[in-house]
Amino acid sequence: MKLIFKGVVQGVGFRPTIYRVAKELGLKGYVLNKGSEVEVVIDRNSDEFIAQVKKQLPSIARITDILLGEDSRTFDDFRILHSKEGKRQSLIPVDIGICNKCLSEIFDSNNRRYHFPFTNCTVCGARFSLIKQVPYDRERTSMNKFPLCKACKKEYENPLNRRYHAQTISCPGCGPTYKLYDKNHSDLGEKDVVKLFAKHIDSGKIGIIKSWGGMHICCKIDEIQRFRKWYRRPQKSFAVMVKDIRTAEQYGEITDDELKLLLSDSRPVVLVRKKRAEQVSPGLDTIGLYLPYTGLHYLLFSFLKTDALVMTSSNVPGEPMMIRNVEAFNLDADIYLLHDRDIPNRIDDSVLRIWKGKTFFLRKSRGFVPEPIDVSYDNCVLSVGAGENLCGTVSCGKKLYATQYIGNSRYYPTLEFLEEGLRHLMKLTMKKEKIDAVVMDLHPGYNSRSIADQFAKEFSAPLFEVQHHWAHAASLLVDNSIEESVVLTLDGLGYGIDGTFWGGEVLVSNFEDFKRIGHLENIPLLGGDKATIDPRRLVFAIFSRFGKEKYFTTSEADILNKMLDKAPLSSSFGRVMDALSCYFGVCTKRTYDGEPSMKLEKYLANGKAKYSFDVKVKNGIVGTTDIFRQLDEKVKKPISEKQKADLSHSMIKSIIDNLSDIAIQHAESEGIKHIGLTGGVSYNLPITEMVEKRVEERGLSLAVHNTVPNGDGGISVGQNAIAGHRLSS
Ligand SMILES: [Zn+2]
Ligand SMILES: [Zn+2]
Repeated sequence: MKLIFKGVVQGVGFRPTIYRVAKELGLKGYVLNKGSEVEVVIDRNSDEFIAQVKKQLPSIARITDILLGEDSRTFDDFRILHSKEGKRQSLIPVDIGICNKCLSEIFDSNNRRYHFPFTNCTVCGARFSLIKQVPYDRERTSMNKFPLCKACKKEYENPLNRRYHAQTISCPGCGPTYKLYDKNHSDLGEKDVVKLFAKHIDSGKIGIIKSWGGMHICCKIDEIQRFRKWYRRPQKSFAVMVKDIRTAEQYGEITDDELKLLLSDSRPVVLVRKKRAEQVSPGLDTIGLYLPYTGLHYLLFSFLKTDALVMTSSNVPGEPMMIRNVEAFNLDADIYLLHDRDIPNRIDDSVLRIWKGKTFFLRKSRGFVPEPIDVSYDNCVLSVGAGENLCGTVSCGKKLYATQYIGNSRYYPTLEFLEEGLRHLMKLTMKKEKIDAVVMDLHPGYNSRSIADQFAKEFSAPLFEVQHHWAHAASLLVDNSIEESVVLTLDGLGYGIDGTFWGGEVLVSNFEDFKRIGHLENIPLLGGDKATIDPRRLVFAIFSRFGKEKYFTTSEADILNKMLDKAPLSSSFGRVMDALSCYFGVCTKRTYDGEPSMKLEKYLANGKAKYSFDVKVKNGIVGTTDIFRQLDEKVKKPISEKQKADLSHSMIKSIIDNLSDIAIQHAESEGIKHIGLTGGVSYNLPITEMVEKRVEERGLSLAVHNTVPNGDGGISVGQNAIAGHRLSS
């Protein structure tokens, strides 16, 4: 009989599994990679064969379909036949956390890989981060510098070995090595380096570790204050790598869904409800936790006395994560643990949070890139994203591939990284490098446009501009496989088609067009970007309408008042959150992206809808400044934390209810079933819940994100889909 297996069945140890099972059952025939599928022929019908294959399936393999057919040939043995080159796009595996079998070898003193930090096999290890070119084999990865020794070669060639055709295997005899360097960059050698490094970290030192797709800075949690000062990040939240799940449970309240993701092969940073270590994420009620994912991490924790490490990407602010040893030394850390394998593809840790079983990606990178998303169009479109949280996307063969997390386009090295990331994806996924269209954001000031321009010229492709929030809405449609929706796009700032800055929008959107049917009242941004960094300017602008200016001296106020008429206008939901956060003294100065509104989340979560606000809605414009006046009247001084929470909750809820109602009324009159929610503000769970409640009360369903990032990291997906549909219609 003949069997065709579909799904994730190549480059994941599937063929050796088939081989083993066939041998066990005494079957004769062959297994062969064919296109993106695997073909198996066996000499007799066997339900037992399928059952055993399913049972012994490698953890990262996934069978989506098995087609059965006739084949009555006879064979003298069972063989793995030489594969024809498959479709390129099915062959790029993601980086996968070390498997249990490899882990037990690392801690088995009789094993030849005892304490070897690069131990991996067919089902685990670095992949995307070290692949330079396709097809995926050792010569085209950064393991090409390390020829296999005899013992490894034997494993590689034996179909019964779990390292059969594992392209990146090595051992202490042939693989990469870690070395330790001190503060003065002096080489301290290769002996017992992990143990020594652990000792330094336990004693309070700040260390740099080179990993698979980049470098991490780490220290004990007790050292966080010194670390913040040294790294010049006074308030930003940092991820914490914990020794094991038991430790994770001491730092955070972990739900079943979160547990599943923490333990998954992708090993992302998962935001969970914080129990301890306030200083790791000051003012937030979440903490980002993750588990070790490389052999080195496990080894390190086996030597460390501490069971948790602050562990964050090492970079110069605004620039991409470091990947070269010489760059790391510029950071002036206390101790360095570096290896001699190159990193062709930088890739940061992924960061996500879970809401009712849905995954909200704050950063989609290691462990998830370059997994494709299906789309209906066949054109090759390249999209470059927006300004912050950059991420690019290429499409081909009815699939979308988004790059890893790139960074902030204000910095030149980040733009270079965007270009590199896109070129690499093109190389991995396209048969021929050919581009039908290039897409960028409408904002004339975004530097990512220069990259779009360059690609458009190079491939003589048309260049499209797409409005920021329409791209958000389209990314949500892609994420939910729907064609049209009324979408609440709650966000920071995006350039609108009327030249103002949007961000609190109700858009009727499909892939062909969109219509703005509702939005928040415009608020002046005093000094443009300065109003984002200094939210006191927002509060000043709002209260100046009632002659109740705040915060500034008379002479400063005079200047600001003169700026009011010329200030750019914004309907951003994020800026309303910033103003509220500032008004309550929760955050009066932004030291990192999104800080004021992120710190408000705790208040929204703890508050109740005790107060009522009279919201004025005219022609789809939801008034916000007058709500601040009402708020000011309700505040009893001195204000308690409880009252801040109740007032914040009540006020934001009344805005959400009114925006939602605009969407709901339109959906009901047009017979649209879904209301969508997207944009950076939708990471905020209390707000997502407010929208959901309002929408479900009216018998409609809420579409939220699950695979595409809610924030600007998802923009390039939406841009791509809009251009792709335009080309194919
Ligand atoms: Zn393994
Ligand atoms: Zn070896």
